[in-house]
Amino acid sequence: MIRFENVSKSYSPGKPVVSDLTLEINEGEFFVLIGPSGSGKTTTLKMINRLIPLTTGTIRIQNKPIIDYTIHELRWNIGYVLQQIALFPNMTIEENITTVPEMKKWSKTQMKERVTELLTSVGLDAESYRHRLPSELSGGEQQRVGVLRAMAADPDIILMDEPFSALDPISKKNLQEDVAKLHQQVKKTIVFVTHDMQEALKLGDRICIMKEGHVEQIGTPDEICQNPKNEFVREFLQSGNVAVTTSQTVQTLMAMNHFSTSPLAL
Ligand code: ADP
Repeated sequence: MIRFENVSKSYSPGKPVVSDLTLEINEGEFFVLIGPSGSGKTTTLKMINRLIPLTTGTIRIQNKPIIDYTIHELRWNIGYVLQQIALFPNMTIEENITTVPEMKKWSKTQMKERVTELLTSVGLDAESYRHRLPSELSGGEQQRVGVLRAMAADPDIILMDEPFSALDPISKKNLQEDVAKLHQQVKKTIVFVTHDMQEALKLGDRICIMKEGHVEQIGTPDEICQNPKNEFVREFLQSGNVAVTTSQTVQTLMAMNHFSTSPLAL
């Protein structure tokens, strides 16, 4: 679905912040990029929809190099959710959610139905919310609308850059549940950046651990927790209060702790 082939990015000559990255993200996969601050996660994410140009290498979506897509094609088919709530303050929730459908010239009826469907899917009463301004919503609700906006035009891919890091623990947990549920329902390809290991383990089908622009390890939560490839991965797991286990599968641990706010540590 999304393929990185020897991708590097330097903001200044000779100083790559992403180096020779080769990896494949499968269709319908929830793929998490995780690593310390400055490890190149956001840069990697933004290269997918050409918010940042590559220095060398190729990124392909459905086998076609991204450079061969128009910017419109990329914006319309790739939803994007940022850390900061970025709703248009003078537009209603309905208008915010239908920004891309409007550009794609959906009919008024189609857009209204889509807003009802999306708000209802995350437990918000459509009639009570659709005409409100963002300022009339809590921070958690605004971020929830940000996620719905990214999904509104039914994109093939959704990019999420630390979408919940500014939220309180309860809102964060609710939104994690929403996103997991939406992913289960529609099976879109999601690329999700976080520095929170517990979040990565809860949500990811596969997790890619980055350090200084390189990939340290890619694997399922089970694979990573049971066989951390090196000391860095082991330390990173432990820093997130995630115990490395060989005796019990991580899936069992995750089932026990599913969406609990308590640490996954044994
Ligand atoms: P992460 O998302 O893992 O925190 P980033 O991709 O944001 O990492 O940043 C990787 C490195 O690139 C950091 O050293 C950062 O300072 C640098 N960087 C990011 N954006 C820019 C930019 N626009 N100009 C110059 N350097 C940048």
